[in-house]
Amino acid sequence: MGSGKSFKLVGMYYSLKMNTKVTVGVFKSEVDIRTNTTISTRAPLTLEINGTITDTSDISRENYDILLIDEVQFISPKQIENIRLHAQTHDVYCFGLLTDHTAVLFPGSKRLVELADNVIQINDFCIPCSICTHYRAILHKKRSFSESDVGAEYDHVCWKCFCEKDLIKNKNG
Ligand SMILES: [Zn+2]
Repeated sequence: MGSGKSFKLVGMYYSLKMNTKVTVGVFKSEVDIRTNTTISTRAPLTLEINGTITDTSDISRENYDILLIDEVQFISPKQIENIRLHAQTHDVYCFGLLTDHTAVLFPGSKRLVELADNVIQINDFCIPCSICTHYRAILHKKRSFSESDVGAEYDHVCWKCFCEKDLIKNKNG
């Protein structure tokens, strides 16, 4: 998705593997169609995943000490609730986008924010302004996107740029 979250996940994975003896499982939503078996980042880093999360998968069967889950915005609210239960006995770190290209919370992200022990916002830079922004507004680059935003490409923009681009889009119909 072009954000820094996957990079954070990969960094966390290697830090855990190098500095601890815990077992770490890396998962993501099966809905992420960029690649079936890896997590990729803007930097030239990829990480093989240990499994995908579907609407029917049973996360409680995973025996890793720590789970790292990417693209959590594509995971259903029901599965987020199952992950919350799993987190009672295991450490679970979820990475993902909060909002879609219209600045509306993804259903899975919304449920995660409601249930998570802690939510950390990863700072990013507004690409047009090159300023650090806490606002994670995302702007769709492609016009032919699917409803679920799967496979979409995003820019990270501040609220000001988000509104300006939106106005341009509206002017052009
Ligand atoms: Zn901006």
